[in-house]
Amino acid sequence: MSEIRGKSNEMEIVFDSCSENESFARLVIAAFITNLDPTLEEMADIKTAVSEAVTNCVIHGYNGGAGKIRMKCRVEKRAVTIEVTDSGVGIENIEKAMEPLYTTKPELERSGMGFSFMEAFMDSLSVESTPGQGTKIVMEKVIGQNHLFEVQGA
Ligand code: ATP
Ligand code: MG
Repeated sequence: MSEIRGKSNEMEIVFDSCSENESFARLVIAAFITNLDPTLEEMADIKTAVSEAVTNCVIHGYNGGAGKIRMKCRVEKRAVTIEVTDSGVGIENIEKAMEPLYTTKPELERSGMGFSFMEAFMDSLSVESTPGQGTKIVMEKVIGQNHLFEVQGA
């Protein structure tokens, strides 16, 4: 494994809002964090959280229409911070939107679990949104935490 970098590393991409780019964003985030040597589980958690965030921009933010999605990722030591932003419809009631099983699109067979998954798979999740202007979510996860606990607890 490579030495953990002392300095931070940051990237930002902007892509079109379409379902194909959900898997594109997953691959980009995986490639960016791979040199942190995450476990398969950590990698899967982060990819899933990014998919959920990007899917929300596509389906809810832009209602399946055209728009741009911005994904920014910063790695600082072992902490990964990911921002996913759209300039879509925004969220009226963020607290309600974040409740498990709450969805405004039951007709599309959404289960209302996206935010719950992001919260479960990442260490933190925050949602900022202005109706009519868009939504930004910020998620953070520290890589290698479980391993550290195992070693300390041994
Ligand atoms: P699932 O993710 O399980 O398919 P869902 O997308 O409806 O269903 P969440 O991801 O938890 O569930 O989102 C809850 C609700 O928050 C959505 O139904 C939608 O109303 C709102 N929401 C989420 N992200 C956005 C966004 N980027 N722009 C506008 N509204 C959003
Ligand atoms: Mg969702």
